[in-house]
Amino acid sequence: MLVLSGGTGTPKLLGGLRQLVPDEDITVVVNTAEDLWVSGNLVCPDIDTVTYLFAGLLDMDKWWGVAHDTYRTHEALASAGQSEVLRLGDKDRATHILRSECIRQGASLTEAVGRTARMLGAGANILPMCDESVSSMISTDSGTMHFQDFWVGQRGRPEVLGVEYQGMENSRITDAVRKAVEQEDNIIIGPSNPITSIGPILAVNGMRKLIQSKHVVAVSPIIGCEPVSGPAGKLMRACGCEVLSRGVARFYEGLVDVFVVDERDGLGLRDVEGMDVAVVSADTIMTSAEKSKALAKVVIGQLV
Ligand code: GDP
Repeated sequence: MLVLSGGTGTPKLLGGLRQLVPDEDITVVVNTAEDLWVSGNLVCPDIDTVTYLFAGLLDMDKWWGVAHDTYRTHEALASAGQSEVLRLGDKDRATHILRSECIRQGASLTEAVGRTARMLGAGANILPMCDESVSSMISTDSGTMHFQDFWVGQRGRPEVLGVEYQGMENSRITDAVRKAVEQEDNIIIGPSNPITSIGPILAVNGMRKLIQSKHVVAVSPIIGCEPVSGPAGKLMRACGCEVLSRGVARFYEGLVDVFVVDERDGLGLRDVEGMDVAVVSADTIMTSAEKSKALAKVVIGQLV
């Protein structure tokens, strides 16, 4: 089973899938366009969340970081005048140090992520979307900034004018991603932000072509006219996408065979039905492990 993931909506679905499928049978291709270096170490927010989920370490209240972590290093740095855009926990930082040490010793991001996942006991095959550095840069009325500066630093307040994937021109599909995709008949796109989570994965040079012939099942992160959480609405609007399930379906047009919309989203169901995609409605709000499992069952039921 192969899943494309960001760091919140899809990990909730992964939590359901792993109740039904052994971790060893799950490959996750993860967005890296929100990665950034903080106090000397590479933080990969979406990869960290997916890794912690599979290692049983994730803080499931926030959907990032290690549960019950402490913040002593972050606080010590802050009192020394070194402010960090992300509030990093101590155990979380250990992961970033391990990963960055691998990279400093010459490993690729794919190798570093694999090694870190094994060290932490995550059984799934967790793959960065590419090894090259790519950043989602948000153009706003206060200037152009990295996604984390926009969303965490500025709390998503500035008016968004556009989004650019800086460095994407150098990206290429890794051998590990190619091999994993070639082995699968199905691809699952979880309910993640289409602009800053799934968009970068699909924009890796050659990625759309690689998955085009696969049976793709996607879950909408939008219900009615709003995302379930996060800045997807603001970013979609700025990129000329309608903030509707239809807008997400259009974004994935030509790629997705089955689109799962929320059963409360009458608008989504009707609008998407006119498109060249099968529509399935389900309860997509994953507020518990049971609800994640129920949605995962629906998604698995759509695979060929
Ligand atoms: P990020 O990397 O933290 O931005 O996380 P993702 O892109 O993976 O997830 C953010 C998206 O997940 C948002 O657009 C939300 O609307 C969506 N989302 C979060 N929780 C849920 C949920 O329970 N159900 C659905 N359908 N979407 C969700």
